[in-house]
Amino acid sequence: MKIATHTLGCKLNFAETSHLVRQFVQAGYEVVEFHEKADLYVVNTCTVTAVAEKKCRNAIRQAVRQNPAAIVAVIGCFAQNAASEVWKIPGVTLVLGNDRKHELFNLIAQGDALRSSLPEEPKSFQLSYSQGDRTRTFFKIQDGCDYFCSYCAIPYARGRSRCATIADTISMAREIAASGAKEVVLTGVNTGTFGLHTGESFLDLLLALDDIDGIERYRISSIEPNLLTDDIVAFVAHSKRFAHHLHIPLQAGSDKVLTNMRRRYDTGFYANKVQLIKKLMPEACIAADLMVGFYGEGVSEFEEACAYVESLPLSYLHVFTYSERPHTLALRMEGKVPIGERHRRSDVMHAISERKKRQFYAENAGREAQVLWESDVHDGMMYGFTDNYIRVRRPYNASLVNVLQSVVLGTLDSRDDVFDI
Ligand code: SF4
Repeated sequence: MKIATHTLGCKLNFAETSHLVRQFVQAGYEVVEFHEKADLYVVNTCTVTAVAEKKCRNAIRQAVRQNPAAIVAVIGCFAQNAASEVWKIPGVTLVLGNDRKHELFNLIAQGDALRSSLPEEPKSFQLSYSQGDRTRTFFKIQDGCDYFCSYCAIPYARGRSRCATIADTISMAREIAASGAKEVVLTGVNTGTFGLHTGESFLDLLLALDDIDGIERYRISSIEPNLLTDDIVAFVAHSKRFAHHLHIPLQAGSDKVLTNMRRRYDTGFYANKVQLIKKLMPEACIAADLMVGFYGEGVSEFEEACAYVESLPLSYLHVFTYSERPHTLALRMEGKVPIGERHRRSDVMHAISERKKRQFYAENAGREAQVLWESDVHDGMMYGFTDNYIRVRRPYNASLVNVLQSVVLGTLDSRDDVFDI
């Protein structure tokens, strides 16, 4: 039997797909590429934007076209939030939302591949990690979110915040260390809420992870600004293994829009946090998610956001164009921004992000840094990242894959945003 998977969306999805695939491989399945003929296709879906949903539909149709006799299992966030729609796509044989996707292997093994029940609120939690497909391992330590930001459908797709205990999480981290992974990215939906309902804390988890031998480097994939406490910043600055790389969603650079979004901080709070990080870790990479075109973002609010972002020592932005999501509070708001204007603002923010990234790279020229070399080869070159997420390139050398090497950031190829060493 052959299995092929296609994963859309976040690092969490990649960790979960990898975990599922390992179950099938242990049972004797052969993994093939998604464009090849397989007996079982698994599409792990995303619902974060309308564009992501369109990509899900395309991937599902592609699987059905390749082998109309195959089992086509659609799992994850889009399957959770739009199960009825997914069931209507001809050729789909199994739809499992986030409530039951972890049962996929057992359902297939039992031949229980034709069911039409609609998903319920996801409540279970399963630690999982990706392996073998990347030098970096994505480690899912948390799921769900209680925040219900007004634009976001994820809490409806992923359920409330939940996690395992620190003891169980550390046990799986030791398993990851034993597998040879050198870099682990801690992933979750709202990672900083780890321990919120179990009486433990995210900082205590970080302290315990820092003591595990074998893993050389951790990254925190993303953490809400209000949950990134000054203690966590100080810990990262002085820890043995945590990279000086923080991804802190900003979402809007105007207090009026942040209020509309129901975010839990204002621009002043966010700016102070960024300044603290730069004070303790001057070379840190700080990335921010930023959404343009949300309800109530008039021209003046957008200009305010541009000036605000320009003023902060951010390294680069992940720019998102707002799109209406089902279930969300925003659908009842006023102040809709025309679609064309949303895209114009996206272009402006992307240009700001590019400038910031160039500046950040230029500031790092001549620095000595530790690079973890990855396995991908392009035109005879291999790539890696420093702890502050600077991309580095050198001629391919198989013995360096998954090896940390000390390098001096020499010549910057600013067209490709990469240092040659
Ligand atoms: S914090 Fe807000 S944006 Fe992030 S997953 Fe939760 S509701 Fe969505």
